[in-house]
Amino acid sequence: MGIDASAIKKDFPIFGRTVYGKALVYLDSAATSQKPASVIDKIRDYYSKYNANIHRGIYKIAEEATEAYQASKDLTARFINAESYRNIIYCRNTTEAINLVALTFGNANVRNGDHILISGMEHHSNIVPWQLLANRVGAVLDYAMLKEGAYLDMEDYKKKLLLKPKIVALTQVSNVLGTINDVKELAKMAHEAGAAVLIDGAQSVPHMPVDVKDIDADFFAFSSHKMLGPAGLGVLYGKEELLESTEPLYGGGDMIRSVDFQRSTWNELPWKFESGTPNIEGGIGHGAAIEYLNKLGIEKVRAHEKELVSYALKNLEDVKGIEVYGYKEGRDEKAGVISFNINGAHPHDVATIFDSEGICIRAGHHCAMPLVKSILGEPAVARMSFYIYNSEEDLDAAVSAISKVREVLKLR
Ligand code: PMP
Repeated sequence: MGIDASAIKKDFPIFGRTVYGKALVYLDSAATSQKPASVIDKIRDYYSKYNANIHRGIYKIAEEATEAYQASKDLTARFINAESYRNIIYCRNTTEAINLVALTFGNANVRNGDHILISGMEHHSNIVPWQLLANRVGAVLDYAMLKEGAYLDMEDYKKKLLLKPKIVALTQVSNVLGTINDVKELAKMAHEAGAAVLIDGAQSVPHMPVDVKDIDADFFAFSSHKMLGPAGLGVLYGKEELLESTEPLYGGGDMIRSVDFQRSTWNELPWKFESGTPNIEGGIGHGAAIEYLNKLGIEKVRAHEKELVSYALKNLEDVKGIEVYGYKEGRDEKAGVISFNINGAHPHDVATIFDSEGICIRAGHHCAMPLVKSILGEPAVARMSFYIYNSEEDLDAAVSAISKVREVLKLR
């Protein structure tokens, strides 16, 4: 049995509300997902039943809080097939996870004149930390460009690998194009060229099975808020030997083994990278989000989104004056993200007219300015993105909203 989106909607309190008297149609899960009652309740339970700081308390409720936080780490490790919780560092979000790598591993390993390689479809959070690193140490930031505005140009990637980058940082799924990169193959090639590999999994982990060991990523980053969990909880996976040999970024409580007047030694992994009181409720809520996805089955999530993408692309084919970005053929390769423009309409007007129908979509550069402005050549694009609670009816509503755009803006 596949996913029954209308049954799933019932698990999400937000779908009980209306917008302008209409049912809420949420097509912006690439920005952030909605949250099921089980996640909301888990966080409320923590605050109302066992709120305490973790790790040091030797009283009952502190032990319960520590256990729940630890259980979430174990769930996270299993969810992406990491060796253990020791590989799982909790931070604020994908952005912070990538910055953490750039500021620690990057500072220690990238020197003046070295190269760093990313791609033309990266989110700003996988561009700017590398620009900052390159500027700090005098390194060169290279880009593997795209073909047909849709997928990575492998010839260009190979060419850039000849420059022997120290770090290759790539997204697994583009948040604008929905392109799914074969990160296992890309990581293998990068390793052969001598680079360490960071994968941005912000748009993959919530939507498809991910196996960090199979990919052989050295570092892997994602955010809980895009996978049914709370905002403010991000995950950095790292290979143990790399994390062991890397200095921590922040110093303070919890990340130390011992402190004397002049020097300190570090706590074991992953706590060495988690200084101070962490986002306890976020970690616990994140665990509940993974439990929800596990119950559903992440393969089913991917299968559901594949169906939605091919349904949407097929229906959009007949829409007059529409430009869909990214893959048009090979629909199996596209994640649940469809960026588009309607000739003669500004994407912000498109999103505003969608909103008047109770439909949430996003318009802009989607934090991927080099891709949207320079590669697609657009100031902005409209984007619909899907998740487990979306149904074909939601997509029908989106197609009707496009007709309304044409009508309101008097497009011919
Ligand atoms: N990478 C990609 C591909 C994303 O889509 C996003 C979020 N839009 C991020 C990174 C950044 O995630 P966060 O804002 O949670 O740090």
